[in-house]
Amino acid sequence: MDIAEFRRRGREMVDFVADYYENIEKRPVFPDVEPGYLRSLIPSEAPVDPETYEDIMKDVERVIMPGVTHWQSPNFFAYFPANSSLPALLADMLSGAIGCIGFTWAASPACTELETVMLDWLGKMLQLPECFLAGTDGQGGGVIQGTASEATLMSLLAARCKTVRRVQASNSQLLEGEIFSKMMAYTSEEAHSSVERAAQIAGVMIRKVPTDDTYAVRGEMLKKMVEMDKAAGLIPFYFCATLGTTPSCAFDHITELGPICNDENMWMHVDAAYAGSAFVCPEFRHLLNGIEYANSFDFNPHKWLLVNFDCSAMWVKNRADLIGAFKVDPLYLKHENQESGLVTDYRHWQIPLGRRFRSLKMWFVFRLYGHKGLQSHIRHHVTLAKEFESLVRADKRFEICAEVILGLVCFRLKGEDVLSENLLKKINQKREIHLVPCQLSGRFVLRFATYLWCLIFFCVSMIQHGVSRVWLTVNERFFYFNECI
Ligand code: PLP
Repeated sequence: MDIAEFRRRGREMVDFVADYYENIEKRPVFPDVEPGYLRSLIPSEAPVDPETYEDIMKDVERVIMPGVTHWQSPNFFAYFPANSSLPALLADMLSGAIGCIGFTWAASPACTELETVMLDWLGKMLQLPECFLAGTDGQGGGVIQGTASEATLMSLLAARCKTVRRVQASNSQLLEGEIFSKMMAYTSEEAHSSVERAAQIAGVMIRKVPTDDTYAVRGEMLKKMVEMDKAAGLIPFYFCATLGTTPSCAFDHITELGPICNDENMWMHVDAAYAGSAFVCPEFRHLLNGIEYANSFDFNPHKWLLVNFDCSAMWVKNRADLIGAFKVDPLYLKHENQESGLVTDYRHWQIPLGRRFRSLKMWFVFRLYGHKGLQSHIRHHVTLAKEFESLVRADKRFEICAEVILGLVCFRLKGEDVLSENLLKKINQKREIHLVPCQLSGRFVLRFATYLWCLIFFCVSMIQHGVSRVWLTVNERFFYFNECI
């Protein structure tokens, strides 16, 4: 493909994507294929001779689309959203074109510097305490990780390293392995599975803290466990709080938990993978109160802030905790500015070495929507969730299973679980809308995560149209549930 053909194909691809989005509602949101469907549709070997671009594009419809779950469809209400947006797609194209691998400042200064500034911009929109911002000479700062799971793992590994150093400083005889075997991490019983997995990867024990009747961890519950473990000779070292749990969007009480962690020398990481985006709105910012006690904080703009996957924003209060934990310095990665104190080398802040120019898509999205546009986007979703909640509450056959705080509604049919299980089966079998379940208090619950088609929203002049259209969708969806019962 030469540059002339690239220009032509590029325009065609933009048209293809635009058509895909304009017509996405017509596609069944969940694919009707059996496992292994794809292998029989393509040759078992890569082609020896080059094929044509037309052939490939024909196969996109024939081979790929039948097996796609359309996450950007307005009929997708499963998991948490993974909102994309047109500005983010364009920025990603540019990132791919530049193709730099910005592991150090010198490897591509713009890639590093834009990331640091974008994380400061975003931190300011969230009103994060100053200590988390890089500024020009801050001790803290932000980094883009691929996922919230990676951020949790990074924080846990940094906490492990910091604890080993602290324990060895008072007892130099103790070997690292002995300390590891006594270290205890904690998280909510409602936390995402990635926290337990991070502990498995790090080779440390983890305890799940029971929650109250709103599915949130309270200070006294953590304190009790920590005291019990200390009395047994263990070393509590890490707590991962969740703001916006995956099953029900519950909020751990970090104003109570933070002081306990600080008193006990435990690293507090705050995982707000989904809910974090809502903190750009002042009316939801109180949910982040207590963040000043945390060592690290992470949320996914790729879930709910119109920056397409992958983009997980992580901040640390003390960057030395990350850099000091994982520093390996071969000659081929060194550069003359690395010790100047003026630059950030993000290779020390993450597990892989290579990293893409992901801050470009933040820059495009933040500038094209503005803080106000991002706030409206969040507010529309929350309004839709409230509307859906009121429809559910008005029907006596259903019950709401957890407080609706943001864009997630947890509900079920009253009575035996089997009723709700059958309802979900029927809904998903129709493939017109897609939901996933969860368990709350041992009961089978349906999760409805509101999703406003951000692409409609992006045309500011069409906001009204977009909103009324999705209002309608929510109503239709509710009546759709009725049909399935
Ligand atoms: N933490 C919470 C609270 C989540 O809800 C999720 C996913 O939905 C995750 C972590 C995992 O996110 P990621 O896929 O970015 O690792």
